[in-house]
Amino acid sequence: MITGPITSFDQYLRRVPKVELHCHFEGTVRASTFAELARKHGTRLPTEDVGRLYDYGTIYQFLEIFALVSSTLIDREDFARTAYESLADGAELGNLRYREMFFNPTLHTRRGVPMATCVEGLVEGIRAAEADYGVQCRLIADIYRQDDPQTALAMVDEVLACRAPEVIGLGMDGAEAPDPPEKFKDAFARARRGGLRLTSHAAEDGPAANVLTCLDELGCERVDHGYHVLASPAAVARCRDEGVFFTCCPTSTSVVYGWPELSAHPIRAMVEAGLRVTLNSDDPTMFATDIGEEYARMCPAMGAGPQEVRRLVLTGVEAAWLGGPERAALRAELEAELDRLDEQLAGLPGAPA
Ligand SMILES: [Zn+2]
Repeated sequence: MITGPITSFDQYLRRVPKVELHCHFEGTVRASTFAELARKHGTRLPTEDVGRLYDYGTIYQFLEIFALVSSTLIDREDFARTAYESLADGAELGNLRYREMFFNPTLHTRRGVPMATCVEGLVEGIRAAEADYGVQCRLIADIYRQDDPQTALAMVDEVLACRAPEVIGLGMDGAEAPDPPEKFKDAFARARRGGLRLTSHAAEDGPAANVLTCLDELGCERVDHGYHVLASPAAVARCRDEGVFFTCCPTSTSVVYGWPELSAHPIRAMVEAGLRVTLNSDDPTMFATDIGEEYARMCPAMGAGPQEVRRLVLTGVEAAWLGGPERAALRAELEAELDRLDEQLAGLPGAPA
């Protein structure tokens, strides 16, 4: 755990308490654990070099590795261990305090892993991490866009049937361009009737219109990524006026979509356009990052000082699917910690104000 007084703005950014709403469980598995689980289950890996397991250049290559990692998660203890490590990493590397974490049920159930094994394992790991690190976590079941609509509907039914209190939402991911959001309208409607909260990846590698489809036809309450909304001034104006939350991910998208200069990343323009943005790590181990690193890279690149950093953190609290008293408690805790850190930062020579 990171402790002691801060000595730089970089340390401040890593130490700021964080909420994360866009992080895929299967994309948080440590490469070393992936290699161990592959050995345990007799899975062939593309390389023996653990340091090169997560090498790829396009979203399609990335999705292949993502599926390979998923294929090594079989027993309840595999899910429990990796969920625990995922949250331990968030807490230790970036002072993560609350996460709503995606998982892709059909990546597991289609290989014959029962939904209950997956969910119960995740919940076991989440509860153990909360006990050891104080980090809270809830789960969002993601539709995989390359599945067909019937598979997605059946997945939603299964999630509703074996629902732990930690499972609170439905989301959607996978390659966006070939499979537009309206394909899964029925699955979202069923999830909403079942009491799940709704979000979706949109305008990531698809057009701005997908954001509006997610809001209007799927009933989404948040948008994951959303960068191409900038291509439509009307969509930007609407999202700003309605206060739509966008969960953005600097590093993964800079790699996959070719925005290597974070100062030119659309996140900056989204913030400047008045959109409500949160920073997130997406698939941290697969992109050699963590939630602390995301703040440390993105905030200086967008010229964010402590006030803007505070706003990013607290926007995460507002966008979280927490009940009123839980949200108020988390906000108070984070604000008190931010006050202490701001005081330390103000005492450092040359620190941004
Ligand atoms: Zn994502």
